Amino acid sequence: MKVHVDTDLCAGFGICVGICPEVFELHDDGYATVLPSEVPPELQDLVRRAASQCPAQAIFITDD
Ligand code: SF4
Repeated sequence: MKVHVDTDLCAGFGICVGICPEVFELHDDGYATVLPSEVPPELQDLVRRAASQCPAQAIFITDD
């Protein structure tokens, strides 16, 4: 599974970071980015939850 954040859509709510700080990181400019783009199996449920709860629908997941 791969994940990325579209910074054009991200509004910096930080919900993704609250759900899965191992993968998402909020930058000083107010936008979230992804730390490892390849998501380890144990974090995939959290990443899916973050994507479903992102108010800006800025998180995109690609399944292998
Ligand atoms: S939850 Fe969505 S809008 Fe908020 S910081 Fe994460 S990617 Fe950006």
